Parts: sequence; C-alpha cells; structure tokens
Amino acid sequence: MTDEQTQTHFRTCPLCEATCGLEITTKGDQVVRIRGDRNDPVSKGFICPKGSTLKQLHEDPDRLTGPMIRDGETWREATWDEAFAEIERRLSPLLEEHGHQALGVVLGNPNVHNLGGALFLRHVIKAAATTNIFSASTVDQMPKHVSAGAMWGDPSLFPLPDLDRTDYMLMLGANPYVSNGSLVTVPDFPGKLEAIQARGGKVVVVDPRVSRTAQSASEHLFIKPGTDIVWLLSLIHVLFAEDLVDLGHAAQWVNGVDDVRALAERYTPEMAESVCGIKAEVTVRVARELAAAPTAAVYGRIGAHTVTFGTLTSWATDVLNVLTGNFDRPGGVMFCSSPTTKLGGTPGGRGFKTGRWQGRASGRGEVLGELPASTLAQEIETEGEGQIRALVVIACNPVRSFPNSDRLDAAMADLDLLVAVDPYINATSRHAHVILPPLSALERSHYDMTFERTMIRVFAKYSPAVFATSRPDEPEILTRLALVLGGQGAHASAEDAHVAALTQLVEREVASDSSPIAGRDVAEILEMLGAWSWAEQIVDFRLRVGRFGDGFGANPHGLTLKQLVEDFPHGRDYGELVQRFPEATKTTSGQVDLFPEIVANDIDRLLAADFDSDGLVLVGRRHLRSCNTWMHNVDVLVKGKERCTLQVHPSDAETHGLSHGGTAVVSSAVGEVRAPVEVTQDVMPGVVSLPFGWGYDSPGIEMNVARSRPGVNSNALTDDQPLDEPSGTSVLNAIPVAVASVS
Ligand code: SF4
Repeated sequence: MTDEQTQTHFRTCPLCEATCGLEITTKGDQVVRIRGDRNDPVSKGFICPKGSTLKQLHEDPDRLTGPMIRDGETWREATWDEAFAEIERRLSPLLEEHGHQALGVVLGNPNVHNLGGALFLRHVIKAAATTNIFSASTVDQMPKHVSAGAMWGDPSLFPLPDLDRTDYMLMLGANPYVSNGSLVTVPDFPGKLEAIQARGGKVVVVDPRVSRTAQSASEHLFIKPGTDIVWLLSLIHVLFAEDLVDLGHAAQWVNGVDDVRALAERYTPEMAESVCGIKAEVTVRVARELAAAPTAAVYGRIGAHTVTFGTLTSWATDVLNVLTGNFDRPGGVMFCSSPTTKLGGTPGGRGFKTGRWQGRASGRGEVLGELPASTLAQEIETEGEGQIRALVVIACNPVRSFPNSDRLDAAMADLDLLVAVDPYINATSRHAHVILPPLSALERSHYDMTFERTMIRVFAKYSPAVFATSRPDEPEILTRLALVLGGQGAHASAEDAHVAALTQLVEREVASDSSPIAGRDVAEILEMLGAWSWAEQIVDFRLRVGRFGDGFGANPHGLTLKQLVEDFPHGRDYGELVQRFPEATKTTSGQVDLFPEIVANDIDRLLAADFDSDGLVLVGRRHLRSCNTWMHNVDVLVKGKERCTLQVHPSDAETHGLSHGGTAVVSSAVGEVRAPVEVTQDVMPGVVSLPFGWGYDSPGIEMNVARSRPGVNSNALTDDQPLDEPSGTSVLNAIPVAVASVS
C-alpha cells in the first residue's frame, strides 16, 4: 500500500491453467494497472496478453451484475430471492411429474478456475440427483482421465512433463505457446521449452499445423490428423525391435509389457509412414532419441486427444514414458504432490470403471459420472420417460463449445427450464429462463484447488478478493441453487447447509486413523475454522490436514491459510514434485497396467479403422488472445487482424479455387459455415483449420464487442455422432469437410 487509496494486490490469474501471479494496482474502486508479479516464485512475472484484461472483464458493461428473469422475449432484472423463487416455481412441478431424471446439469471449465466452483459444485450435482450430468471434460480431456484411470487406477492423477529437468520433450497436438498448457500447469511454458533447448535438450512437436510452438521447436513433424495412435505405436514398435526398452525403477510395478509388444508388432515405421505421413527413418530416429535421452517426456493434448482414438493416443503416450524409464522420474513425467495431497500409503485400490450407467436416449456409457457432451441434444430431444426438460448450465456455453452445436441450439430452445450461471447473455444463456451471474474475478478470492494438482512444482498461493462486494459469491449461489434442486426450497438457509457440509467434512477426517487430527473434537476444529468465509474454511481445513499442514496445532509451524495470507502473499514454493509410485497406484492389482482392459477392448476398433481419406479434413486451433469462448468481449483482445480464418495450404487453395482474402463455404456432414480464407504453408496439404470458440452473431447474444467481430462457429461443422468410444469424448479434429469458393 503506497497511500490511503492506492493499493497493490497479488493474486493468481484465473483465466487459464498456467495460474500466473498478477500484481494489481488499484485506486479506490478502479484498477490502475495489472502486470506480472515478479515476486511470484513460480511465474516470476510472466503473463500473456489476457492476464492484464481482468480490468476490462471487471468493467465490461455487458457483464451481468444481478439475476435476470426471462419475460417473454425480453429480460427483467430481479433480486436474488426472486430468481431462486422463479427457478423453484418452474422446476417443482417438472420434478413432481417427471422425477429428477428430467433434470440435466452441464458444467464448463471456468468452474475449475475459481474456488467457489471447485468446492461447491458438488452440492449442485448431489442435489440434482440425476445421471444426466455433462461437462466440458467429454469435449476435450476425458481421454487423459480414462487412460490414467485404466493404467494406474486414479483418473485424476495426470502425468506432468517435468519441464524444468527434462532433456527431451516430444509433444503431439499441443500448442502451449498459445494455450499456455493444458492438463499441466506451467507458468511460462514457452520459456521452459526454450530453456530445454538452451541447455542442449530437444523439443519435438508433432502437429498437422506449424503452430506457434512448432515454430520454436527443435523439430516439427507434420502428421495426418487423427493418426497419432498409429505413429505412437510405431515408436513403441521400434523400441521393442531395437531392444531399447528400459523401464528403470518402474520394472518392479508394471505389468502388461508383453501385450504391448505383441500389439506394436504390426505397427512398423513403414506402415506408420503410409498412414501418418511421417517418414519411416524419422520415426526410427525419434524412437532412438527418446530412448537415448538422459531424461524425456512424451506429452499429448487436445489435437491428439479429441479424435476417434483419443484414449488410445493418451494411453500410448504414457506407454512410451514407461518403456523409456521416464515414468515417475525427475526429467520424465511426474505426478501431483501438492500441499493438499496426502502421500504415501500402499499400492492398490478399487481400480477404475466406466459404463456404470447409460444415457437413456444415446445408450452411451458414463465416464467419471458423466454422459458424453455430444449426446446432450439427443437426451433433450428424445421424448419419453427420463427426457431432459430442465437444464442447469454452470459456466458453460455448450451452444458454441459442444459439437453439432446448431442441433443443440435448437434443442435448448425447447427446454421447459434453463438456468444459466453465467456473467453474460451468450449463445447458450440467451435461451435461459433465469440467469444467475457470478462475481467478477476481482471480486472473489482464489486458491487453485484444481491446478495445484497439475502444477510441475509444489506450490500454495491464496489470493484475497481485490474488491469487496455485498453481492453473493459462487459458494452462496451454488449452495442456494442446490437447495432449490434438492427440494428444500428457495428460502432454505444456505448458511445452515454449508455448516452441515463442513461438519461432515471434519467428521470424516477425524474418523480417519491416518489423519493428523484423528480422534480430535469436531467442534474444536470447526471453531478453529470459524473466522473464515465458506470457501476459505475448506481451503484452510485442507491445508492444515495436508502434507505441510499444522494439523490444527499438532505441528505448530506447519502450513495454515493464515500463514499464506500473512507471510506468503506471492505464494509459497515447496519445490519440485516428488516420486509417487508405486504407492500412488490404485488399480486392484496394485500394479501399473500397461495394457489395461479398457485399452484392450478398443483394439479391435483400431484394427478395423480406415485411415485412408482423399478429401480435406478440418482441425481446430486456438489463439493466445482468447480462451475457448471466454474472452471475445474484451476489445483489446479482439481488435487487430482477422483471426477467425479458414487456413488452407496453397496446393489445396489452388485445387479448390480459393484465394487469400476470399470467402470459402465449408460444409461437413452436419453443417455449413462461410469463412474468410487464409492461404498459408502453416497447414499441411489436405488439412484446413478453423479456430474454435467463435460465432457471436446469433440473435439475442448481448455481447457487443464480440458481436462486432463475430467470427464463425466451427462447432457448426463438428459431428456429434463419432466419439472416442472408451471416454465418450467428442471428435473435434480430423472432420471430413468440403470447401468451395464463394464468388
Ligand atoms: S498465461 Fe494464463 S494464467 Fe498466465 S496471464 Fe495468461 S491467461 Fe493468465
């Protein structure tokens, strides 16, 4: 603080998984400046162009600051009590007549970027008491959950490339110069990749586009979209054929190696060349480099996972990490050892199962308690018992982010009740009957409960709210919503519900023999948490019973939330990740299974796949200045040259009569869009690319900056029928399309 009105705040940027530290200067209720926090021990001042726009997001005149209730074709502002009463009024008769299966819940990924969502959504899901749960996970990340669950029994324990220590990084379908990382939390991912090369290591990027990351890599290899699994199996083939397999310390607790060897037999580098377009000698060389590197990490993300064989691709990346001795090894891939994680224990657990129930209309099996996002429209449209008639959409814009979105758009318009927890009237919430807007990022506190689990260091940081407000925060909004969904009513006490839930949390912990507070008095623990607000109570609790915690006095110098607030405003860095296996294995055998049943069951589909295609295929792309559908109403981010273009290779442009700056009509099995053409060598022949997250010109969208640069919705082209079968994940890449010039 420099004078009475000017204040400096330190907080975590909540806009993407990189979780950079921000230094925010305010004067009164105005943001004066936002820049990277140079004293944040992990991000060290790094930010991207989005990080400084929390000010614009906070001040956006289109951002809702109070509930809205639909009034025919218009909206009226409402009080919070009125909004929850309206939800109850519409929902109660529906539930009474049709039961809770008439209710669906859709969750978007901003939920994991804020503390309230991360901690309080579970109440909504429980109260909804429906199996119709959908989320962004089956749009882009479920393959990683499934392969992790299948191989080591914990679907949320992700392999994290140890970028600070690795010598060789092989990346497929990932563009961290733009995304800043996905399913791995790395502030300044680009700097880490450059550091690998600066210390004599190598970064190899495999992608059908010369992405920004590919431009800066040691080597870039074009690959035909959707064929990554074939190429990875050919790398595995070479490792076995040349006797380069060395599991290192994992040899004692891994099974299934011979099954992998047998499968990889047929995937010769020559076969992969014909399917993937990567020369056989290059494949052999990369396999040898991987095996010879002192340490190496293989990492695949959205471009490689949102395809027909996403789970197998995710699995094969980790098979490579195991076979080269880089699994759970410094410089290879490591696993979460965050402050709230409990380490140790013994290998073995309940394992991981999918398909415990099926979607009523689609017949598709659940994965991690969710049905595939691609099936949402079908579940709304299909009449009969269990038809979804009411939907609660929390921090999600499925009408733009789910495949075949025009179908979903029409289905949403037919719902009897749509409740949106969203700060904007966007493509989805314009169909809502009630909108409940959350606070802006600057009005809420933050602790990265989710991304501390994917960070490549052990790190704890708490960010107090920058601005105080009397409006309800997400813990309160979600708790009240849960009370309405659960039938307790719009006027039930959210405070009582929170206290009951917190009490249960403490009771479970004191009942655990391995807890530092085993056998302690519940009331005493609750009293020690009492001074904090709801979300902070849970954070403090988890920190204090966590691996560095004070155990509520048992370890007097241990970590508490108070300590973070008072002594570590920039965050507390506990250093590098520590080895977790074999203790972290939660399969029933207690071994990491290199050829698990879920994978084995999908092999026939792989063997039957026809990767030959002569036509064009569409892939997506992301831009540094946007984040899915989130950031399009920020003028400083959307201005400048047109970004929503159809990228086409010059040879394809010539074949299809397209010219740079002209317009193309792009059509797929489900839809058609018109997009400006960008002729570029940056896509491989046979591939066209559209960015995702655009399309702001539909009637009713009240986002004026976004409307001025609407772009086209690439999900009007993606098909909701093909799925990555084991994970139910949408296929967003390698979409067959036709293109033609619009004269
Ligand atoms: S990289 Fe992500 S976390 Fe960092 S400033 Fe940009 S949006 Fe925020």
